[in-house]
Amino acid sequence: MTLEHYIDGARVPSISGATFTSVEPATNEAYLTVSAGRAEDVDAAVTAARKAFSDGPWPRLPGEERAVTLRRIADAIEARDERLAALECRDTGLPITQARGQARRAAQNFRFFADVVTTLSEDVYRVGSAQLNYVLRKPAGVAGLITPWNTPFMLETWKLAPALAAGCPVVLKPAEWSPLSAGLLPDIMEEAGLPPGVFNLVHGIGEEAGAALVAHPDVPVISFTGESATGQAIMRNAAGTLKTLSMELGGKSPLIVFDDADLERALDAAVFGVFSLNGERCTASSRVLVHASIYAEFTERLAARAAQVRVGAPSDPGTELGALIHPEHYARVTDYVRLGVEEGARLAAGGARPPHLPHGNFLAATVFADVTPDMRIFQEEIFGPVVCVTPFGSETEAIELANATRYGLAAYLWTNDLRRAHRMAQAIETGMLWVNSQNVRDLRTPFGGVKASGLGREGGRHSIDVYTVSPIVHLAT
Ligand code: NAD
Repeated sequence: MTLEHYIDGARVPSISGATFTSVEPATNEAYLTVSAGRAEDVDAAVTAARKAFSDGPWPRLPGEERAVTLRRIADAIEARDERLAALECRDTGLPITQARGQARRAAQNFRFFADVVTTLSEDVYRVGSAQLNYVLRKPAGVAGLITPWNTPFMLETWKLAPALAAGCPVVLKPAEWSPLSAGLLPDIMEEAGLPPGVFNLVHGIGEEAGAALVAHPDVPVISFTGESATGQAIMRNAAGTLKTLSMELGGKSPLIVFDDADLERALDAAVFGVFSLNGERCTASSRVLVHASIYAEFTERLAARAAQVRVGAPSDPGTELGALIHPEHYARVTDYVRLGVEEGARLAAGGARPPHLPHGNFLAATVFADVTPDMRIFQEEIFGPVVCVTPFGSETEAIELANATRYGLAAYLWTNDLRRAHRMAQAIETGMLWVNSQNVRDLRTPFGGVKASGLGREGGRHSIDVYTVSPIVHLAT
């Protein structure tokens, strides 16, 4: 089977005929051939989208009418719920129980942005008695959407839904390591009645198809989720055509535990935060900072909990930690495990392939204790089931350690001292802080990072802002 592009309402191979193969993380066997888009394929997709923007109905429809189609897209996703979860599980190595949650969330993304676009408030200002100033909200043009391989379908829809809600035709470039689930989107969009040319899909390698999309002069907006280094390359490449960039990048998020916290709940959050989704989660709590008075006990309990995490076949409903996405990524994560040992951190749990899983990209849930901020395993994003535990002696030291990396995506604070929580919320350099809780969030809230973790915000009307321009009208009455 060859997965094709979808351009102007038709499934098409690459103009050059080029393809690449996709491997299954649980076995590392090639099982899928995918069309490899290049600049000419991207150009065809952008041309179709540009035509839909200039002449088509979609950008001109009232938000309420676009919302009707978005809700039909959600229905079409829900109708494929189990299939989507199965494809995602096979293609990414995510445990099937967690893949099901991702499929449901994808449908929710469309329903949510259907609601957002029908409830947007308008900005109108009266100047004196004789003038009104009001802000027009218009779709920005063709939106280029570039997405990563972790939870691919959910993250694709997190961009598709607001871009389409805002009236933008799109060109989606999914990650080359997880192209399978995006292959369902053409059927979903057709079933929902989206006009041809509004949704376009080009598969391919980042440095080819992705870079061509970024450099294209008819694409005024790029919404990108991926590694910080890729974000830097995209900014350089986009400079020539001066475009809006929304950047959701990497993280090395701290989970900070004070001695007054509910330790059982903090432990649950630490285990969930770094071992669910195979640890391949941008907001993973990959550094655990623990007050010195409870450090020994907490580390021991965390290691014991890690040892209980069931690693196994992604399709097995009993599995809690599946296979990492790709042999190259597996080599990178296991290199970090070796490095941690060399750097002098104490391996308290995991660190190796479970003996019952001789093939595929499997790694036991891994805990490093006594990690110091000068170690690379403390500083660099590992993006796998590996957590670093570090003690702190005071609130000031906890803040210094939390802020001691280049990243600033998420932070998690466990304390029952309300005044301390307020102080630390001000002091921690992060885009998002959870206090005594984990990743539960309302989709209206801003999502994004500071420092090397990102630029701009998505979520609710913040996403709509990415895909719209807002000219101001000064009207004399
Ligand atoms: P990646 O940066 O390697 O790839 C992401 C996408 O960019 C892929 O589609 C890839 O093909 C494309 N790409 C690569 N080079 C490109 C280039 N030069 N020009 C244009 N496109 C290019 O990231 P990944 O390994 O797929 O994903 C993991 C990373 O994503 C982690 O760093 C993770 O933290 C981050 N992430 C961030 C968030 C967030 O919301 N902040 C969410 C999920 C993942």
